[in-house]
Amino acid sequence: MEKPIENYWQTRLNDLKKALVENNFEVFLANDASEAREIVLEEIIPKTHAKSVSWGGSMTFIATGLYNAIKGNPGFEVLDVFDKHIPPEETLQLRRRAFMVDLFITGTNAVTEKGMLVNLDMYGNRVAAITFGPKYVVILVGRNKIVPDLEEAMIRIKNYTAPINAMRLEKKTPCVKTSFCEECKSPDRICNTWTITEKSFPKGRVNVVLINEDLGL
Ligand code: SF4
Repeated sequence: MEKPIENYWQTRLNDLKKALVENNFEVFLANDASEAREIVLEEIIPKTHAKSVSWGGSMTFIATGLYNAIKGNPGFEVLDVFDKHIPPEETLQLRRRAFMVDLFITGTNAVTEKGMLVNLDMYGNRVAAITFGPKYVVILVGRNKIVPDLEEAMIRIKNYTAPINAMRLEKKTPCVKTSFCEECKSPDRICNTWTITEKSFPKGRVNVVLINEDLGL
């Protein structure tokens, strides 16, 4: 067989797409981050008629270039919770207002082969918006987020995603030193609310863009 690695990932992503569609998600396949950006801008946003947009913490979102593409677009009301010029108390208000937007964009910490999204948040605004509030949600998913099942999702998130996020955010938590979850009681603990999104409700509210690249944590 020519190109066995490409064949492997195409098969995995096609299988995952089928599982997600069975769970009522709207699913798109992208070859890379820039194709994912075009899908969001040219297919998902026109389809949803979104006029107001916000987002949750996601390195994959930044990697696609969507942040700059939407932030600078006068056609949208943008609630930018990443804007470092906004004081912390106003950012909290912005996070609350983000529940009312037309379109909320973020990543996922893991996706199981059966098509469930698994996430763990510090504040909870991201998992709350995935669950309820914004009319539509876009989840950008690098292929490295695929795990066999819920147990593996939680192991991945607690022993890989969370420690690296704690390091990235310069938190004072034990995992920053050990790189493993120590189930800390630190005031800086970033692991507070889990969600498992087993199905999209209503059908098609959550749009998943599967990207054939390793992206994010
Ligand atoms: S619970 Fe604490 S130690 Fe464990 S990953 Fe989260 S922040 Fe790190």
